[in-house]
Amino acid sequence: MKWLIQILFLVSLFMFVRGILRTLFASKKAPSNFKSSNPFYSEQSKVKQGKMEKDPVCGTYVDVDTALQKSFSGKTLYFCSSDCLEKFKASH
Ligand SMILES: [Zn+2]
Repeated sequence: MKWLIQILFLVSLFMFVRGILRTLFASKKAPSNFKSSNPFYSEQSKVKQGKMEKDPVCGTYVDVDTALQKSFSGKTLYFCSSDCLEKFKASH
């Protein structure tokens, strides 16, 4: 039965080495993915930091990415909450 253990050992060693090689190839590939995905993330955070709009109902400055939006006379208005949006709809 010792040969079986040896074969199992060799097979697991082979799998181990293959796993390492795969990790090496994957990490070689990773930097290019990382670089291409990075500007996207920084761009997104730039947009998030750069664009704040005033809620016309309560006057709070809201993030355009997360705020509720409504088109009104050719402009996009941003609201901090559905309460403000409803108030705006009711008064216009
Ligand atoms: Zn508001």
